[in-house]
Amino acid sequence: MSFRLKIILGVVAIQAVFLLMIIWNGLNVLKTSNEEALLKRTSTTAKLFASMSQAAVLSTDLATLESFVNELLSNPGIVYARVRSNQLVLAEGGDKKLLDRKFEADTSLVSSELDGVFDVYAEIKVAGEKYGRVEIGFSISTIQQLIADSRNNAAVRAMISLVLMALFSWLLGHYLTRGLNALQQGTKLIAEGDLGYQINVSGKDELAQTALAFNDMSVKLKHLDEERAKKEEEIHQLNQVLEQRVIDRTIQLHDVNKQLEHQAMHDALTKLPNRALFHDHLHNTLLSAKRSGELFAMVGVDLDLFKEINDTLGHHAGDLVLQHVALACNKVLRDSDTVARMGGDEFAILLPKVTDMTHALQVAERVLEAIKEPLQIDGQQVTVGASLGIALFPQHGEDELELITHSDAAMYEAKRKKLGVVVYLPEMGEGKSEAITLKGELKRAISIGEMVLHFQPKIDINSNSVIGVESLVRWQHPRLGLVYPDSFIGLAEMSGLIKPLTLEVLRLAMLQILEWRRQGYAYPVAVNISAINLQEKDFPEIVFAMINEYGVPSHLLELEVTESAIMVEPLVAIENIRRLSLMGVQMSIDDFGTGYSSMAYIQKLLVAKIKIDKSFVLEMGTRKNDEVIVRSTIDLAHNLGLKAVAEGVESQEAWDKLRDMGCDSAQGYFMSKPLPAEQFIEWVKSSAWDKYPGTVLE
Ligand code: C2E
Ligand code: CA
Ligand code: CA
Repeated sequence: MSFRLKIILGVVAIQAVFLLMIIWNGLNVLKTSNEEALLKRTSTTAKLFASMSQAAVLSTDLATLESFVNELLSNPGIVYARVRSNQLVLAEGGDKKLLDRKFEADTSLVSSELDGVFDVYAEIKVAGEKYGRVEIGFSISTIQQLIADSRNNAAVRAMISLVLMALFSWLLGHYLTRGLNALQQGTKLIAEGDLGYQINVSGKDELAQTALAFNDMSVKLKHLDEERAKKEEEIHQLNQVLEQRVIDRTIQLHDVNKQLEHQAMHDALTKLPNRALFHDHLHNTLLSAKRSGELFAMVGVDLDLFKEINDTLGHHAGDLVLQHVALACNKVLRDSDTVARMGGDEFAILLPKVTDMTHALQVAERVLEAIKEPLQIDGQQVTVGASLGIALFPQHGEDELELITHSDAAMYEAKRKKLGVVVYLPEMGEGKSEAITLKGELKRAISIGEMVLHFQPKIDINSNSVIGVESLVRWQHPRLGLVYPDSFIGLAEMSGLIKPLTLEVLRLAMLQILEWRRQGYAYPVAVNISAINLQEKDFPEIVFAMINEYGVPSHLLELEVTESAIMVEPLVAIENIRRLSLMGVQMSIDDFGTGYSSMAYIQKLLVAKIKIDKSFVLEMGTRKNDEVIVRSTIDLAHNLGLKAVAEGVESQEAWDKLRDMGCDSAQGYFMSKPLPAEQFIEWVKSSAWDKYPGTVLE
């Protein structure tokens, strides 16, 4: 029920109560006043009749009296009328039965009520002397009818006034609540969002004050809403700016990743694809050649006398020569060909879709001519020679390894006989190229235990104590003697043998840890891990299983992963390093400075140490640039909360410099070359280096 309806009903109810009281009172008053008036009227009628009849009575004019009586009887409610003298009736009319009633001539009566008739009498007097009297009978039922009529009239009037009052109340209520209505309407509009809506205000009462306050509030709300909208717009714009920034950053990141990817797959000096990318191209070219039946050639290139150029003219000249070779190759090759720097002064060329052997030979000869074009280095004319060996698919090899080893064999032949360009011949294979024979032997060698480990100490620069060793694999070859890892690690990686090789090295390292523990030495042993190992999703589990199998404390095992190995598949590498770290295995980044790992990745790596590549440490004394790199790498490591390890420390000067730079530990020929296990312990016992870091045996 609305407030207005309540007010109206309230007013109506109060008025109705008052009205009913008034009507009730009025009816009572009416009733009594009607009886009195009637009494008065009947007696007046009687008195008038008496005085009218006076003359006719005195003169006994019966005819006049008769007409008077009749006249009187014509009035409603008069049932009989009589005029009498003191002795007899002079004239009468009306109801016979009533006239014949035994009439008590009681002169004292002025009225009486009998048989439903109201009898009224009046004396006819002249000068105080009584001459007779008139008698009139009024019908009581007629009187009552009159009273009832009056009552009904009053009731009708009361009803009309009630209706009028209700109407008046409604109008009054409407008038009183019209402000409330406006307020209600305004509130509704505001709720619907019509902020700032204003109520028309007239007067100064409380309602008007409320309406003014309402208007005030409405304006403020509108103002607040406008501010909110403005803020929302600002936030929206900020969001858009942020979104754009995120997009920009994502694009930048994408570009940087692309760059890093490119850098990881390219040689920094010559900008040529590196060994990894070359293998990738070779693999794909092989697949498509097998499908299409087309020929392709693989050309191995090795510079002649490069070492001499380096030694006599310096590293800078060597760098210029390598860049010259890269340019020369690119100048004569098609876009679809690939020339890559495989390392050092070794290059490789892939010639897809060659028509025949002659075609490949022609291209190789053009390349050689371009290389041989003289270049100026510091005002000096330098001519570079090269040896090129060609292997053709499918004639000279049906898989990657065969093609590489056979082009190598041809290249060695060219070098040995100073022939420039040589095409592979099957006779060259046997005994000529070490790689070919090694490949066949490597798998067997791993399984029959021809792999041995040498150990090189890592020394804490502050305390001069041995804090661990790096294990370096060697192949105890029955014919060739001790073969160094550079000759077979690449081969193992290419031929799928790196997994068994790494497992063998891990096995040997763990056995050595146990043996030394038995002897009372607790040296952490570091094992080098290839990029291929690091990309295996189950590698951490394999290591963990071995740790459990051999019962080696995980903190005594260290794994060294090269910076470039991390960049091959950074996300997998980060995750594997994290899992290994959480197992308690110490992780270090090897050859730091040679790759192009981004800070973003380095920060994510859960590693303990950064090993500064020996190429920088070796040249620290002669190349200012290298000293800067070493110094900033040490700072970087410390800023990331990591330890810096320098490798390739060959002299006292290098040692001192590293100590001054705040490097944490060092490794190098100055302290010790890598040694077999027993010799290493002898070195520990006899060397000036301060033994080992307490007994860590638990
Ligand atoms: P690396 O991990 O950088 O190992 C350090 C190499 O530097 C070793 O050569 C070591 O003999 C040599 N070195 C140590 N101190 C000095 C120094 O003062 N001056 C100079 N010039 N060289 C020093 P190594 O033993 O021939 O190993 C060569 C590379 O072969 C290693 O480089 C490592 O990348 C790889 N390698 C060795 N063992 C393994 C292995 O078990 N598994 C794998 N995947 N790779 C291995
Ligand atoms: Ca290493
Ligand atoms: Ca290294």
